[in-house]
Amino acid sequence: MNKPIASVARTREILNTYGLRAKKNYGQNFLIDVSVVARAAQASHCEGAVIEIGPGIGSLTEQLAILSRHVRCYEVDARLIPVLESELAEYYNIEIILQDFLECDLEGSVRQMEEEYGTVSVCANLPYYVTTPILFKLFEGPASVEYITVMVQKEVGERFSAAPGTPEYSALSVESQYLYDVKKLFTVPRTAFSPAPKVDSAIIQFHRKPDVTADAQFFELVRASFQQRRKTLYNNLKEYTGSAEAAAALIEKAGLEPGVRAQELAVPAFERLSEAIKEG
Ligand code: SAM
Repeated sequence: MNKPIASVARTREILNTYGLRAKKNYGQNFLIDVSVVARAAQASHCEGAVIEIGPGIGSLTEQLAILSRHVRCYEVDARLIPVLESELAEYYNIEIILQDFLECDLEGSVRQMEEEYGTVSVCANLPYYVTTPILFKLFEGPASVEYITVMVQKEVGERFSAAPGTPEYSALSVESQYLYDVKKLFTVPRTAFSPAPKVDSAIIQFHRKPDVTADAQFFELVRASFQQRRKTLYNNLKEYTGSAEAAAALIEKAGLEPGVRAQELAVPAFERLSEAIKEG
């Protein structure tokens, strides 16, 4: 029996066999601790279909394949495709797509898998350099994806529960707090990776709140409000609406102070601003 891919010995063997070195610019840090990947996969509600972003050499993919009916992976590094195809050849339920996840048709992908496998969840050890855009794409994607389980840098993990008025509070905090119940499942020390990153990580799980809906306009508004953190909400909304009068009217309608900044506002204030836009 082969050792799991998430082990020092097997990772070293794979990298040697294929003459590979981890690419920093793709955020490649491979997990070498099977207990971490197994725990993440087990917590991920992946029993229907699961999307994995950045399978690397397949450490988490392997554990997901054991538990899930179908694993669809998006990997941007072409060098890794033959590795995954060969090392995971014994699993019939893995689909590997060579594509930047940020460019994939997430709606279409989820819809197709839901028809075939029932539920779709997401489980990934995210590349650090694109964590934020990937999470925005997931949050703003299909609401039917009930669980998103991701490994992120520990400090990034703290942003999701950040309170208004703190430096960590951002558009990502607003979207995640509005749409999800967020739980930190466990911390992962830097020694669980090869090469070891400079910081520890955490596995975070987002569970979609059942009765919340959000549309593209809400997301645009939240992002625009934080566009330039040092600017007031009024100045950011002036850019967004294209008019000083419209920005002032929105702020007034939402019952906010004229000089307020987005990072001081809790989620209900963004809901009121969004309502004010809709009322016109
Ligand atoms: N899942 C593997 C593990 O846990 O060992 C690898 C995780 S590594 C932190 C991130 C992976 O994401 C790398 O394989 C990298 O090539 C891939 N990646 C980076 N940017 C990506 C993108 N935009 N779309 C899809 N995959 C990407």
